Amino acid sequence: MNEVMNDALHQIFGFDTFRPNQEEIVSNIIEGNDVFAVMPTGGGKSLCYQLPAYMQDGLCVVVSPLISLMKDQVDAAKANGLNAEFLNSTLSPKDRIRVYQAIENEELDLLYVSPERFAMPDFMIKLKQAKVSFFAIDEAHCISEWGHDFRPDYLSLSNIIIHFPKAPIAAFTATATHKVSDDIVNKLGLRKPHLTRASFDRPNLFYQVVPKDNLDIQLLQFLRDHEGESGIIYRTTRKSVESTAEFLQEQGVYALAYHAGLTPKQRKENQDRFNRDDVHVVVATIAFGMGIDKSNVRFVLHGDLPKNMEGYYQETGRAGRDGESAHCRLFFNRSDIVRIRYFIEQTEDPNDRKIAEHQLFQMVRFAETNACRRKILLGYFDEVYTKDNCKTCDVCMGDVECVDASVPAQKIMSAIYRSGQKFGAVHIADIVVGAKTQKIKKLGHDQLKTYGAGKEKDKKYWRQIIDNLLAQDCILQNAEKHSSLELTPKGQQILLGKKQFEVIRQKSVQQAVPEGITAGYSQKLFAQLRTERQRIAKKECVPPFVIFSDRTLREMALYFSDTPEKMGGVSGVGDAKLKKYGDTFMTIIEMYKLMNPEEAEEHAVLQAPIKIKKTRKNKTGKTVKETLKMAKQGLTVEGIAAIRDLGEGTIGQHIETLLAEGHHDDLDIDRLIDPEIRIMCEELFDRLSGASMRSIIEASGNKVTYADLRLVRAFMQVKSS
Ligand code: ADP
Ligand code: ZN
Repeated sequence: MNEVMNDALHQIFGFDTFRPNQEEIVSNIIEGNDVFAVMPTGGGKSLCYQLPAYMQDGLCVVVSPLISLMKDQVDAAKANGLNAEFLNSTLSPKDRIRVYQAIENEELDLLYVSPERFAMPDFMIKLKQAKVSFFAIDEAHCISEWGHDFRPDYLSLSNIIIHFPKAPIAAFTATATHKVSDDIVNKLGLRKPHLTRASFDRPNLFYQVVPKDNLDIQLLQFLRDHEGESGIIYRTTRKSVESTAEFLQEQGVYALAYHAGLTPKQRKENQDRFNRDDVHVVVATIAFGMGIDKSNVRFVLHGDLPKNMEGYYQETGRAGRDGESAHCRLFFNRSDIVRIRYFIEQTEDPNDRKIAEHQLFQMVRFAETNACRRKILLGYFDEVYTKDNCKTCDVCMGDVECVDASVPAQKIMSAIYRSGQKFGAVHIADIVVGAKTQKIKKLGHDQLKTYGAGKEKDKKYWRQIIDNLLAQDCILQNAEKHSSLELTPKGQQILLGKKQFEVIRQKSVQQAVPEGITAGYSQKLFAQLRTERQRIAKKECVPPFVIFSDRTLREMALYFSDTPEKMGGVSGVGDAKLKKYGDTFMTIIEMYKLMNPEEAEEHAVLQAPIKIKKTRKNKTGKTVKETLKMAKQGLTVEGIAAIRDLGEGTIGQHIETLLAEGHHDDLDIDRLIDPEIRIMCEELFDRLSGASMRSIIEASGNKVTYADLRLVRAFMQVKSS
């Protein structure tokens, strides 16, 4: 069983191993059990139902609320060789008939449907006539009124167990609260489901909080350092989204805005352009979320403090779904707290207000912590992170340090105390820096002992100390007395020197993200592969990540995967994709190697993982044999390549494989390439033994190619062995 599953994993998806929990979910579905899986975004949920859909007879029905994503999901499944279709309101009547026909003919592995469609009686009749193997419920939290994405249509899913008592149900969600989880299990009527709760840790995300002072400039700086990467910038209001997007556009950054004020058509268009890599940066309110299925989001920046940790987790979770490292940076300024608090105060229901207050408190604690950010984030989901150092947050990387600030704290609190605890932050800071304001003169505050006690630092610094004192409950702002500052018992102890006061400080703002799994890949080659992917995606009208993920392209650019074996070993290249796109990408890699032989030689020593795949081996054998057949007929490499519509390099590699397999008697080099070229290559090898391919090509005056040299060398090696 495990072996069959592993084979299918290699063959269909091109992956080496299962991600945590995937294997047990797949085997439970196959055994006919209900499943309830809570997995974070990027955890790899779709594979959990696509794999059993492929392995089992009958149809897997996937219910998903994300109509805008269905086509992409179906395209992605098709690209992996699965028979998939979708049914929703966007389909033309003609296509609908075609899909119904396919269901009737039992041609499909997977059918994606919207909950509205699912609730329609005629759909139910059709489905009952079909052979349904199991149901997969995506975004299952939509069935719960407790969740924030409740969809009344989802309630009709409670009928599945009545209409299809024998079909198992697998429900998936990324929403972590326990209350919602229990509700989902009850509403769907899951029967002793296999429960999975994956870790919410996303080890490839780097969490960082930096002080916000001039946000737009700070954002621009970040984007300049991350040119060409895809990312989302979250801002809270429509207005701030627009002003940031405008600023970035003025600075030459191609960024689109996204917020609820745009027409649905504009919103969809902007989202599609982002999904399709037409535009790299989107500035958005949190309305931008559910519809993003892009795997190569490399950064998520928060320009304002989010309202709660759950939202922050979901938003940052959109980064790095492909498992490659991604950057999550929160720009934080305490004035955001004041803004959020203002909105909280408008809330009528005292209970809601209390919840919102608490959520804000947790968020501030995350932003101001001197403990591992990951630990705090996971702690929010009741998950205990046990490592001492996560190595992927600013605190653990030592960017943040605790410094003693007792003396500056005493200066501020002394000014507060001596002026009678009647004044706000601006006036107190003025006293400490020794400002010559009218108010100070009038009140005689220039006579206070603390007047000018902090003139070596500027006002901004003293405002930050005040903010820190507020955050740590050493002072409070009395809302009833014009926000005047007052000391708390804790503050008094610090003022009297009985307690220490510490603040956290950023050591360096610029933090390099630790290298990902494919560190050391050729960026130039990666760029070329990406361009090719973009071209194919345009031609096929699908988002680029449907073709290959960034991670897959990086791996190609690391191992220079120029043979079907190497290409097939790349994570994310399954049989269907190898067949469909392999040659195109191998040709680019070959060309690149030809133009950059020195770099190619460096990469040649890297051992690409070559997967042993039974099915694939046979296929490779077949195509190589085809080349052998043609070679025996006396065709040249060029001719074989032209007839088979493959690269000359690929045919060259077939010949090398054939030679290695002992077919030298069947192959006549002088028929495969021009004898004059062959002789020239042999002489060059003799004369310049040990030289790099590039210098040999140069020495020939570019008369011989890299492919010629490889072929001749392969024959020479056979001869000498
Ligand atoms: P989710 O729906 O849980 O957010 P997806 O199903 O979109 O996640 O998967 C996220 C990414 O992880 C995709 O790019 C997918 O190809 C990749 N992935 C899934 N399973 C594996 C695996 N076993 N090995 C490597 N990559 C995987
Ligand atoms: Zn950490």
